[in-house]
Amino acid sequence: MTNALDQQRVLVAQACRVAAARGLVDGTLGHLSVRVDDDHLLIRCRSDDDTGVAFTRPRDIRLITFDGRPGAAGELDGYRVPNELPIHVETLLADSRHRAVAHLHPPAVVAADLAGIEIRPIYGAYDIPGARLARGGVPVYKRAVLIRNSALGKEMVAAMGGAPVVICRGHGITSAAGSVQQAILQAISVNELARMSLRVRAAGGTLRDIDESDWADLPDLGSAFTVASAWRHEVARLGTPHQR
Ligand SMILES: [Zn+2]
Repeated sequence: MTNALDQQRVLVAQACRVAAARGLVDGTLGHLSVRVDDDHLLIRCRSDDDTGVAFTRPRDIRLITFDGRPGAAGELDGYRVPNELPIHVETLLADSRHRAVAHLHPPAVVAADLAGIEIRPIYGAYDIPGARLARGGVPVYKRAVLIRNSALGKEMVAAMGGAPVVICRGHGITSAAGSVQQAILQAISVNELARMSLRVRAAGGTLRDIDESDWADLPDLGSAFTVASAWRHEVARLGTPHQR
């Protein structure tokens, strides 16, 4: 049990660093969690020697109960749960298929939403998983509040409406998935859709959905293959600082 937990701490910490390397979070804001069982989750916590999400260490990932108490003796010694813990708890409680939740503050996604841009499938083979995600819709939770209680968490989950990613207006995104890797890769895809949308607009272009007939030749290449290879890349690029 301890060993499996420690492996999960390593993965969640790595995923935090990937999110930061991809520009999805800056500074100390943003957090990631993974469900351990019906009563426990591992979550990125804060401490007095915290140097930011980009520098998350496995020990920053702490075991807690769904109501924010230490999940085992000493788990919150020197650590605090994030104020927005309800984002994670309510998202995990809403759907048993959700095993991981990433709450991030990607500037491009926030800017695109504030510019009135909806995340739509504006491209296809450029990023098939991203295009398919956009086709399914990326809803917006229209309040810019700090989601620090379960009522607000439930409101955000209601706005999410079963979609894998929700944009929180003037705030960030929440991405939920069956794995930590998938939760981050989804967030990277939504960020790229936003960046490209802003770029097209900045170039004076108009955003249009790809032709409906193109979907027949945009196959789902299988998440096992796509996620595994994409994640290998994300971890590998962590080794090279200052990519973006
Ligand atoms: Zn937030």
